[in-house]
Amino acid sequence: MKKMSLAMCLFAAIALAVSGCGGSTQQAAKDSKSEAKVLKVGTEPTFAPFEFQKKDSKEFDGFDMDLIRAVGKKMGMKVEIQNMGFDALIPALKSGNIDVAIAGMSITPDRKKAVDMSDPYYTSGLTVVVRKDDTSIKSVDDLKGKNIAVQIGTTGADRAAKVPDAKVKSYDTNSAVFLELNNKNADAVIIDAPVAAYYLNTEGKDKAKMVGDKMEAEDYGAAFKKGSKLTAEFNKALAELKKDGEYDKIYAKWFGNQK
Ligand code: GLN
Repeated sequence: MKKMSLAMCLFAAIALAVSGCGGSTQQAAKDSKSEAKVLKVGTEPTFAPFEFQKKDSKEFDGFDMDLIRAVGKKMGMKVEIQNMGFDALIPALKSGNIDVAIAGMSITPDRKKAVDMSDPYYTSGLTVVVRKDDTSIKSVDDLKGKNIAVQIGTTGADRAAKVPDAKVKSYDTNSAVFLELNNKNADAVIIDAPVAAYYLNTEGKDKAKMVGDKMEAEDYGAAFKKGSKLTAEFNKALAELKKDGEYDKIYAKWFGNQK
C-alpha cells in the first residue's frame, strides 16, 4: 500500500511537471514560445523585383521575400510578412511592431544611427527615369529646375533634394511615382536602378527609359531594432545561404546571371 501511494505520488508529480502547474504561467510560457517562433517582417511591396504582391492572391513575392523566407527557415522561425509604408518601417522596428524590415533598404549612415542593419545582401544604385519621348534630360545634371517624383523616405528622395531648383514631389508608393511620370505631372523619377530596369522590361516598356549612368552604389541590408539579437542570426543564416548555393539560386531566379 505504501509502495503504491509512493508510485501514485511520483506519477502525480510527473504529470504536474509535464502539464505545468499554474494555468496562467503555463499559458504565458506557451505564448512567449510561440511568439518567439514568429518572425514579424515589414515591407513596402511596390518595389519589384524585390517585393511586390501577386495580382490575384496578393501573396508577397520577389527577391527579398524569397530571401527572408529562406533566412527564416534557417533561423527556425515562421515568417509573417506585413505591408506598410516605406517611411513607416523604421518606426515599426523601434516600437516592436515588426522584428525585421526587408524592403530594398540601402544601408546608410543615417539609418545605421536609427536601427541595426544586417550585412549587405545586394548591391544597387540610383538612376534617373524619364518618359520615352523626352529628349531634354540625358542625366541627373539636366534635372535642374525640373519636377522630380520620388518615394517618401528613400535615398532617391535624398538625391532629388540635392538637385538645384528642382521641385521634388514625394509619394507613398513607387507605383504612384511612375504613374506621375506617365501623367506628365513629373519630368523624371529618381529610383533604384534594378527596380527601374524591371519596370522598363514590364509595364513601363513603351512609356519610359533610363538616362545617364548609375549613380552612387548602395548596398541593401535588412534592418532590426537597435540591439536586437536577430541581426546576428540573420547574418549567420545569410552566410549559410551564400555558402550552400541557395542565395545564388534565388539571385538567378530574379536577375538571371547578371551581377
Ligand atoms: N533603396 C532605396 C532606399 O533605401 C529605396 C528603397 C525602396 O523604395 N523600397 O531608400
